[in-house]
Order: sequence, then C-alpha cells, then structure tokens
Amino acid sequence: MPRLTLPVRRTPQVAWLFTVPLSILAVGLTFALQLPLPIPPRDWYLAILFFGLFLVADATVMRFEIRRQAITVTVAEVPLLIGLFYLSPLLLVTVRAAAAAITRARRGREQASVKLWFNVASVAASVAVSKAIVIGLEPSDAAWDLRDPTTWLVLCLAVAAGVLITMVSVVGVITLVNGRASNRDIARATVPGLIVTGVNITVGLAALLVIKATPWGIVLLAVLVIVFVVAYRSYAQFVQQHRTLSEMYDLMRGIRDARYSGMLADALLHRLREMLRAEHATLWLPVQARFPEVLHTAQVDASGLLDTPGSPDPLRRLALERGETVALTAKLGDPQLLARMRSEGLRKDAIVVPLRSGDAVIGTLDVSGRLNDAVEFDPNDVRLMETVAAHVAVAVENSRLVDRLRFDAAHDALTGLANRRRLTAALEESVGVRAPGEMVALLLFDVAGLRQVNESLGHAAGDQVLVEVARRLRASAPSSALVGRIGGDEFAVTLRVDSSDSALGLAKDLRNQVRDQMVFGTLTLDVDTAVGVVVHPDHGSEPATLIQRADLATTAAKTVPGSIQLYNPGLESRSVRRLALAGDLRRAIDNDELDVYFQPKVTLGDRRLIGVECLARWEHPAHGSVPPEDFVAVAEHTGQLGHLTEAVLKEGLRRCRDWSATNHPLSIAVNLSTRTLTDPDFPTRVQELLGEYGVPPHRLTFEIKEEGVLDGTDRPMPTLHRLRDIGVRLSVDDFGTGYSSLSYLRRLPVHEVKVDRSFVQGMATDPGDLAIVNAVVTLSQQFGLTVVAEGVESELTLELLQDIGCEVGQGFLFSRPLPYERLEAWFAARTESEPAQGGGEVRRLRAVT
Ligand code: C2E
Ligand code: CA
Ligand code: CA
Repeated sequence: MPRLTLPVRRTPQVAWLFTVPLSILAVGLTFALQLPLPIPPRDWYLAILFFGLFLVADATVMRFEIRRQAITVTVAEVPLLIGLFYLSPLLLVTVRAAAAAITRARRGREQASVKLWFNVASVAASVAVSKAIVIGLEPSDAAWDLRDPTTWLVLCLAVAAGVLITMVSVVGVITLVNGRASNRDIARATVPGLIVTGVNITVGLAALLVIKATPWGIVLLAVLVIVFVVAYRSYAQFVQQHRTLSEMYDLMRGIRDARYSGMLADALLHRLREMLRAEHATLWLPVQARFPEVLHTAQVDASGLLDTPGSPDPLRRLALERGETVALTAKLGDPQLLARMRSEGLRKDAIVVPLRSGDAVIGTLDVSGRLNDAVEFDPNDVRLMETVAAHVAVAVENSRLVDRLRFDAAHDALTGLANRRRLTAALEESVGVRAPGEMVALLLFDVAGLRQVNESLGHAAGDQVLVEVARRLRASAPSSALVGRIGGDEFAVTLRVDSSDSALGLAKDLRNQVRDQMVFGTLTLDVDTAVGVVVHPDHGSEPATLIQRADLATTAAKTVPGSIQLYNPGLESRSVRRLALAGDLRRAIDNDELDVYFQPKVTLGDRRLIGVECLARWEHPAHGSVPPEDFVAVAEHTGQLGHLTEAVLKEGLRRCRDWSATNHPLSIAVNLSTRTLTDPDFPTRVQELLGEYGVPPHRLTFEIKEEGVLDGTDRPMPTLHRLRDIGVRLSVDDFGTGYSSLSYLRRLPVHEVKVDRSFVQGMATDPGDLAIVNAVVTLSQQFGLTVVAEGVESELTLELLQDIGCEVGQGFLFSRPLPYERLEAWFAARTESEPAQGGGEVRRLRAVT
C-alpha cells in the first residue's frame, strides 16, 4: 500500500502571491499588444462565438483510464489555437478569462475565491503570452500563411508556452500550500497534461486548416465531434460499470471481514465515500438497548473517521422514522421535502438509506455532497446504497450479537470466574510484557474426587463444590492474580512472581486455603486439589504451551496425592509422535506408498470433461488416513516437500500420457505449495519431467494458493514467469480467502482462477457470497482468465454458476476425488464419448435421467 506523507499545509491564501503577478502580467501584456492595433467590427461577433466555444470546451471534461491511471482530458486548447489565429489580443484574453471564470465559479460553488481568482489569472496570463508569441514572431512583410508548416510551429509554440505558464504556477501554488511534492508526483500530474495538449494542438491545427479551406468544413468537424461524443459516452459507461463492480467486490469483502472485529466503519465509510464520489459518508446507529450511539463519518481529504455527521440531522431522522430511503437531489426524491430542506439552508445533495433488521430500523447509512457538482446522485447510486446497506445491516446485527456473546464468552457461567479463553488472553498479555527479575506463573488446581461427588450426590452438589472452590481461591489469591476456571474441575491462577520457588510457595498456600471441609446435610466432604505449576520464561512462552505443560504437571501431581508439581521436560513423552510421523512420511514417499486421487473438472455449459485435479492421499498404517493439509505441512517442515510434489507430478503425468494414448486426452492439475515457488530448480525439473513423459506443457496446470501467489513480495514472481514460459498453465487456488484485490490479478502471469469453495457453497444462501462469485467471474473474464468454481455440491449451486457464466466446475456433484481405477469406472458409467473439434474424442457427462 502506498504510504502518504502528510503535507505541510499552509493557508491557501498564499496563492495570491501568484495571482497578483499573473494578473499584472496578463493585463499589461494584453494592452501592450492591443494598443497599436484596431479592433475590426467583425471581431465583436467572433468574440461572442469564441466565448461560447470556450464555455463548451471548458465544460467538456473527459476521463480516460490508461494503464490503470485515470487521466482527465479537456479540449480547451482547440478553440484557443483557432482563436489565436482569428481574434485580436484584448478580445481573446477577455473572452477566454471570462469563460474560465464562469466555468470555475459554477464548478466550485463552495470553493474559496482564492482558487477562482488564481485560476482566472493564470489562464489570462497564459493566453496573453501565447498571443504575444504569435504577434511577436509574425513576419513583418506578410500575414501568417497557414499552408506553411512554420506557421504551425509558431502556433504550437505559442499554445505550449501558455500551457507551461499555467502548469508552473499551479505546481508553484501547490508547493507553497502543501510543501514540496516529489518529482514523481509532479511528473505524474503534468506529463499526461502535456500529452493531451499535444493532441489538442494537432486537432486545433487540423480544424483550422479545414475551416480555412472552406467554411463548410465546419459541418465535417461537427460530424466528427458528434461521433466522438457518442463513442466517449459508451466508453465512460463501460468504465464506470467496471469500476463499480470492482469496488463493490472490495467493499463487500471489507464488510464481510469486518463483521466480527468492530472495524466495520473503517472498512466501510471511506470506500463508500470514494465509490460514490461524495464529500461525506456517515454511519449512524442511534442508542438501542445496551448499545451506545455510533456516529462515524468519512470526509474527503481527511484520513481516519470523524465523530460528527456529514449529512443533515433531519434527513437521517426522517429515513429512520419512515424506514425508507430519503434522497435529496434536484431530480430524485420528494420535491416538497427538497423545497423544505433547501429553505432551511441545506444545499448539499444526499442519499440516506435505513439499515433494517427484520422490521426494525437500527440506523442509517448516507452519503452527501457529490464531489463533482456537475452530476448529482442518480437512481443507480440509490440502488447501490441500498445494496450496501443491506449488507451493513447484517454485519451490524452480527457484531452486536458478538458483543453480547463476548461477555458470556469470557466468563464461566457457573462460578463467574474468567474462563479458559480469557485466561489465555491474559497470559498472552503478561507473557508479552517482560520485566527483569520477574516471571509469569500459572498454577493449575485440579479438584480431587469431583467425579465421585457428582456420582454419589448429584450434579447440583458437584456444582456447589466448584462454586465453593472458586470462592475460596478468589478470597485467598493475591489481588494481582487472575483466577479462572478452565475446565470441568480445573481452576487456574496466573500472576507475576519473582522466582519459581515463590510460585511453588504460593501454590502451597492456596492449596491449604482451599483444603477445608464442606458440609452437605449430614455429610462432610474433604475438598482437596492437586496442583501443577509452570513459569514463563522457563517453561515456554506460548499461552497454549504453558497451559498444556501445567496440565501435564497437574496430571503428574495427581499420582502423588496432595502434591504440588513443578513442570519439567521429563514429563513429556508424546511430543515424539510428530517426529515419528515425519519419518513415516519419508518412508511412504520413498516406497511409493502415497496415493494420488483424481477429481474431474467439467465445463458447466456443455458438461465436457476437460481435466482432473491430482490430490495426494496417505493411508498411515497406524493412524489411518492422514488429511493432506497435515502431511503437506509435515513435508514442508521436514524438507520433503520437493519429493512429495514430484511424486504427485510424476503420477499425474503418467496418467496424462496414458489418456493421450487412448485418444481421450485430459489435462491434469497439480497443487503446489508456496514454498515450491522459492525453489529455483523446480521449473527445470518440471521441464525435464514433461519431456520424459512426453506430455505437452499446456496439459499441465499448477494450482497455487492465493496467498502463495500474492504474498505481498515479488519472491514467487521469477518461478511463476519461468513456469509460464515453459508453457504450463498457472491457477490461483482458493481465490477470495486472501486479501488480494481482483484487479491485481491481471498483472500476474496466471491463466486461471479457482474461486474458493467457501464462496461457492455459500452462493445459494448468502447474497454476499453470490455477489463475490459474480464479481470474480465477470472481471476474470474481462482479464481473459478461466474461472473454475470448486466445491460444487448441489444442483442449485450449479444453476447459479451457469447463470453467472462461470465456465468450469469441480466438486462432489460431479465426482469425489477417485483413485485411478475407480475414475476409469466413473468414465464408463457417467460419460460418453463424442468426436472433438480438433480431432480425438472428448468425454461428455451423460444427462442424468
Ligand atoms: P485444494 O487444492 O483446494 O483441493 C480441493 C479440496 O476440495 C480437496 O480436498 C477435495 O477433496 C475437496 N473437494 C472437492 N470437491 C468438493 C466438494 O464438492 N465439496 C467439498 N466439501 N470438498 C470438495 P483434499 O483432497 O482434502 O485436499 C485438501 C488440500 O490439500 C488441497 O486443497 C490442497 O491444497 C492440498 N493438497 C492436496 N494434494 C496436494 C499435493 O499433492 N501437493 C500440495 N502441495 N498440496 C496438496
Ligand atoms: Ca487445488
Ligand atoms: Ca481450492
């Protein structure tokens, strides 16, 4: 993410330092040029014509996107160039400056006059300089001859000089106000402008030549202009749709991810504001039950969020009361309301949408103040806001539910003590802050004989014992300690101590305090505990490790009644297991005991079988089948990943070769771990294997998880490029689970996107998931990428995917991953052959009757 350095803001008033000299230059130069010349009467009519042309040109602002950069194009230089040729200096400068003043004043109603005057002055000065060049270089003996390219050069020079003056003064003012911009920023702001100027000058010259040849040329020019305007309109619409879709996708994902973190407003408001090009976007949730009021606003030019509304209060209240969208623009919404609001001095246009939860309205979301005054909010914007609001309402509800659950989640219902989660969090915190000479102790108390109490006296009695132990522990523990109940009969105490001895001493004291009798009617019970003790940093620094080791010590303590046990590594004996698994895996790979299963990939349009994904399987002799995620992780950590990948790849290539031989060629896909992408020898090895098995590279796809391809660095890039150069296909696996933006995809050397199965499976029930899959499919197609939906389990999902236009699917609906022999049987039972276009045959799924 680009980091922005905060500008040194000075008051914009310093712009006068430029405005005044520019004005003097403009006025002085204009009169100096004009005085010796007469103004022919014809010029007055021409001036009116040019005034109109300048107004139109100034109002024509076009936006193009070139190489992902937005470029704003105006055509003001076209009439200027013609005017330089036809108009006398005084009229030209006056008319040009007047048009600029009117345009600016209309565009920035709320803008300070500083900016307006600066702009007008710089336009006037630049036109005066241009005209001076034209007059100054005019040959003394004759008038300008347009057929002579020297004339073109002079006109060109004149316009360019004018543009340069404007640019220099703009950059100057920005530097004064905001501090020095980097050269790159300056280049980025000016270079596109210079290019546009070049184009405009060319167009202007051409127009001038045409008009000069015959006044009827104007008709031709008009036709060209109309064609261009129509083409630009449809282009702009396309770009806008594209952008909205892309932004919507990012927004939905932001909302989805923020659901539980309370970061909703952050994720939402700035994006929403940008998307609708508004000055403000506000989220308002009035007080409701135990939830306090929430009011956040994103404001243009301000990072972070404000606690003040951006929209008028009455509008939001109205939307809340009526439970319906309130739009305040000249064209939309209730005219009476508009009149009333305007009479109360509310000028900004706005869209306020209610956030509904069932029948209740829990708040509002709004945008106000369209940034570009020329276009107001329109019905599309309203629809967009309503869609976003529906998602936001759900997210708010969820986060409130989470809030409510959070308290319950951190506390044990029976004793009111902290529960395991809270204790783990507290441990995490205290372990994170280290003070010299201090340790963090964790004492684990296991209540002895609780099971017997439950069995002989009933659970109510057992509960009573637990409540009593909790009371005694809390009463006796030092005030700095946190006491929690972390399991059925397990209590934990954590605090800072100065040595493990003092931890043991405290454990002994506490155990004695707890150890007292409890009376149940005629029965008297001895309550006793076994205590395990660990200290940080001696016995670990992860809360989970500490708890697990304390547990181990407590178990050891239980074997000696009434004892207290400090952890020591000798208590461990099971950690050896994982190492054993690594040894077994090596043996399995070496002895070819890994299996490869194949899962079909099918085109959704015409149900053709196009390939299979190869998935590794391992049946451990003692533990049964080990999930691939687990043994892939073991392989990664024990340096066996290369062997694993190669084993799967070879098996896949072997089958692929066999299928080609039977006249039913199928592609194969093999999964790669992120780590493989940092192995510089891998691409060469792939090439060798392809040659060895005689498989054409395009039959092989590598699937790489999203976070592997886009890990935020360029490290995987060289391998990706080399693989692509070999000719194998690359696929982004589990797309949607990482944090990459969709548009970034097109910069990668990949051919395919696999939408993560969580979204595919959610499509049928969650509109958010549906929207995401839709966006991925639409944009990927625009980028020329194949989209594969994985995890297709139901007919309903299949239909939705077809509606959206997703090309390829994979999932249990077609087939589970199968061993080779069963896959062959599946081919026979579920598919039928038909001739393929390019020779050979394809398999098509039989219609299910
Ligand atoms: P993956 O690449 O996302 O593979 C797809 C997983 O989705 C497979 O799980 C497959 O059985 C499962 N699946 C397919 N269709 C459906 C469906 O309709 N519904 C549901 N619920 N699941 C479906 P599997 O085989 O357990 O593989 C898990 C992951 O292990 C794979 O995820 C892949 O990342 C990794 N993996 C498997 N084999 C290899 C390998 O040879 N090398 C590497 N590096 N990773 C592998
Ligand atoms: Ca995969
Ligand atoms: Ca996947």
